[in-house]
Amino acid sequence: MARYTGAVCRLCRREGTKLFLKGERCYTPKCAIERRNYAPGQHGQNRKKLSEYGVQLREKQKLRRIYGVAEKQFRNYFKEANRRQGVTGETLLQILESRLDNVVFRLGFATSRTEARQLVTHGHFTVNGKKVDIPSYLTKPGDVIEVKEKSKESPKFKDLREFAATQNLVSWLERDAEALRGRVLAVPSRDEIDVPVAEHLIVELYSR
Ligand code: SF4
Repeated sequence: MARYTGAVCRLCRREGTKLFLKGERCYTPKCAIERRNYAPGQHGQNRKKLSEYGVQLREKQKLRRIYGVAEKQFRNYFKEANRRQGVTGETLLQILESRLDNVVFRLGFATSRTEARQLVTHGHFTVNGKKVDIPSYLTKPGDVIEVKEKSKESPKFKDLREFAATQNLVSWLERDAEALRGRVLAVPSRDEIDVPVAEHLIVELYSR
């Protein structure tokens, strides 16, 4: 399936919650959830009770949309999480969190995961000194993520340097905002991953 390129606020309205897909706009009263918190479309305001399957499906779609992952790739992540030792739902979240675009976003070097994905694709980042332009690249503890020297002086990254300095940082990452450099310290535990998702419902969905 191709990547979704439609209006992203519709996705939040469909899930009935903020997915923070638009960067700074998400924190303003212009956010579509603040203004029209009902599902998009002609029948959006007639919410009906969801079946058990419907609830599980919505939870899966919500998580997939938060990280901007296509269905096929998401299913592959689930298979990998299921194969690994540990609690499948938590492992799934840990894999998603380790994606390079997510780490760039968590470091505050982009205002949203969508922007992080674009900046990575455009070749602005290195991992352990080597250019990596694959947003789905999975980082691991010890990896150093840095904006390329040539990109650091661009107006975009001058703005992002200031933005990063104002952002709270998760405990499993280390950041030098001035140098636009960060490091993965550890694999996050479930309580260090602040996504509003009941992952056990996704495990149930894929176990049907
Ligand atoms: Fe979702 Fe952000 Fe749009 Fe609000 S502004 S509906 S949080 S993408």
